Amino acid sequence: MTTLIDGKAFAADLRAAVGSQVAALIAGPGVTPGLAVVLVGEDPASQVYVRNKHRQTLEAGMNSFEHRLPADSSQQTLLDLVAELNADDAVDGILVQLPLPAQINAQAVLDAIDPAKDVDGFHVVNAGRLATGGDALVPCTPLGCLLLLRHFVGELSGLRAVIVGRSNIVGKPMAQLLLAENCTTTIAHSRTRDLAAECRQADILIAAVGRPEMIRGDWIKPGATVIDVGINRIDAADRGTGKSRLVGDVAFAEAAPIAAAITPVPGGVGPMTIACLLRNTVTAACRRRDLPVPAAAL
Ligand code: NDP
Repeated sequence: MTTLIDGKAFAADLRAAVGSQVAALIAGPGVTPGLAVVLVGEDPASQVYVRNKHRQTLEAGMNSFEHRLPADSSQQTLLDLVAELNADDAVDGILVQLPLPAQINAQAVLDAIDPAKDVDGFHVVNAGRLATGGDALVPCTPLGCLLLLRHFVGELSGLRAVIVGRSNIVGKPMAQLLLAENCTTTIAHSRTRDLAAECRQADILIAAVGRPEMIRGDWIKPGATVIDVGINRIDAADRGTGKSRLVGDVAFAEAAPIAAAITPVPGGVGPMTIACLLRNTVTAACRRRDLPVPAAAL
């Protein structure tokens, strides 16, 4: 019987656990963690993400500071705002919503964020700490995948993990996390020679590609755990049904009967990302004040 990994329910539990940690920080040392989110422009998907982050930050009992800049803002305007937020003691976490408009160099902006407040974990200092086993703030989506794996698989040591995708925000940090769990870890990408054969080796298969249903059922090792990070919108016109829908990078209907456990899209990895952002904000708030970081409840 295949286990459907319910990321939505797991993320709700994680948010509740973070909420309890926030309540303890307020009642104890009198600290209310604060998250600042910066949105440049009016990209509709980014607006939805920012709205959800704002709502869930408040629901967890934290302060949420939203900053909206017009689409034609200069890089210097954004850098000035980041500098202000770096200096603001009420702000523990800074998130600049990506993608940024073309006139702004995203890496320059991400590198301007104080690494101690870099709750997205994209700063080169946090990437370096993750790679070298230090106290990093870990990118939220791979962290969410790891929490799901720890919960639904248990002991990961010695398992063979294959990650398809090598982006800085998902694939590479995911590989670092699984390496730290003592998995034997392979990173595959667009130049991998026989991707299907690589995937068939995987006890844990992570798909982070951005190509709808690219990974087929017969690429899955029987009994594997499949984590599908991909979010791909299939347009109404392509479906011929009048409704668009979201699919992952894995052909779910083919893969689910073969895998031991699999995440659906939507409702798998997606909800974990904001929950981990909240968790990272609590971590940052504690580390900045030399308070003990609450033990992970989940
Ligand atoms: P990127 O486009 O940055 O990276 C995609 C990776 O997939 C690249 O490393 C690329 O290889 C690889 N790739 C592309 N085509 C193939 C192929 N045919 N065979 C093997 N590998 C291939 O994407 P992201 O990492 O940012 O995102 C990946 C997916 O995850 C997207 O669908 C995105 O929407 C989703 N996502 C979901 C999140 C969430 O759940 N909250 C958060 C972030 C992302 P190469 O390097 O060789 O070009």
